[in-house]
Amino acid sequence: MKFLEALKLRSKLFFLFILITVGLVGIGIMGAINVQSMKKNLDSLYFGSLLPVTELNTILQSYHSGLTSTLYKARSLELSKHQASKAIKNTVKDINRVWSNYETHFKRVQEIQYLKYAGSEIQKLNQYFLNLLKNSKDVNDVSIEEFEKEILHIDNILHRLINYEVDMAKYERKVFLQKYDESVFRLGIILALIILAVLVIMYSVFRSIQSDQTRLELVSKKLKISNKKLETVSYTDTLTSMHNRRYFNLVYERELKRARRTHSYITFMMLDIDYFKQYNDTYGHIEGDYALKSVAKVLKKTLVRASDFVFRLGGEEFGVLLTQTDESSSAKLAREIGDQVRDEMIEHSGSKVNKYLTISIGVVCCKADDTLNEDILISRADEMLYEAKETGRDRYIITSNVSESQTQSIKELTV
Ligand code: GH3
Ligand code: MG
Ligand code: MG
Repeated sequence: MKFLEALKLRSKLFFLFILITVGLVGIGIMGAINVQSMKKNLDSLYFGSLLPVTELNTILQSYHSGLTSTLYKARSLELSKHQASKAIKNTVKDINRVWSNYETHFKRVQEIQYLKYAGSEIQKLNQYFLNLLKNSKDVNDVSIEEFEKEILHIDNILHRLINYEVDMAKYERKVFLQKYDESVFRLGIILALIILAVLVIMYSVFRSIQSDQTRLELVSKKLKISNKKLETVSYTDTLTSMHNRRYFNLVYERELKRARRTHSYITFMMLDIDYFKQYNDTYGHIEGDYALKSVAKVLKKTLVRASDFVFRLGGEEFGVLLTQTDESSSAKLAREIGDQVRDEMIEHSGSKVNKYLTISIGVVCCKADDTLNEDILISRADEMLYEAKETGRDRYIITSNVSESQTQSIKELTV
């Protein structure tokens, strides 16, 4: 069922719907056809043999109770000759009408010859009855022996026909039962085949939907993994493997909100390598990259708490975000970072403040409240960094004042 695999889920469900509908309609049509043919068979079985037998019996009755009794009544003078003639005429008319009806029913070839013979005998006998009173002056002149002989003759003919019809009915019943069993068996087979086909195709459709589902789940799992990877890549700086500015924006907003909610400490440090332009000029760009990696390593090594975050904000600038750290602890950490970078002893002959590579740090630390502005922390840290550069580099400057961007209570601490 390759074509099923190629269909979309909606088409598969539509196909299934069509299949079930077609299956049900097929079963319905088969059932209706069978019931219809059964009805036809039953009809011909009952009325096809019942009616001819009834008609033959009517004719028989007419001869016996109609004509015979009329003759006897006329003989016993219960009826006048005229009345008897009229009654005979009417009965003969009735007999002819019923016989014509009987002749119209379906007859088998072997029956037709005898039927013609019976018909001519009935006509002859009817003529005999019609002439019976006309030809004799007195009713008593009619020969009873001859009359009864004729009646017996026609009685035999009609009984033979009745027997024949009864035999036919028995035969038809046998054929009907046989046909009925055959058609029930055939219907059963066809229904079983339709149900089997529907089940097989339904199973294929379900399997196909199931495999689609599995494939979809697998694809979405892979997609999730690659999304996660992509997210990690998009948040990571390739040179230092630190979190980048994009990730900083995310964490900064989140941590600031949390600090505002809990009215807890938040510290932001802005770090910049001193005379780095000269470093590149002196040692080359590749060495400059190594130096950047060394600073990154120091930051990662020094800030190990889960609530400490370090970032490369761009170029040779780094950012540090600390939560739940008071001013003195923040100052201590800033000093430690500066010391650690200097202790790396990365030679920097172009530096005017030290023979090794150093950094300047601007620090802002405060207890967050609802009024703490998002930009103020960054701009205050930037101002502090500027101060550190201006006052000699290789140091950190910390402030807790975030109410205005003008530096007020700067605590200058030379590393
Ligand atoms: P200051 O002490 O005032 O900070 O002086 P500076 O020379 O460090 O000045 P500035 O911060 O403006 O210099 C930034 C330099 O950092 C310029 C650029 O050559 C260098 N830089 C920025 N990004 C990279 C980098 O990815 N790799 C390397 N090797 N150097 C970089
Ligand atoms: Mg810079
Ligand atoms: Mg610099």
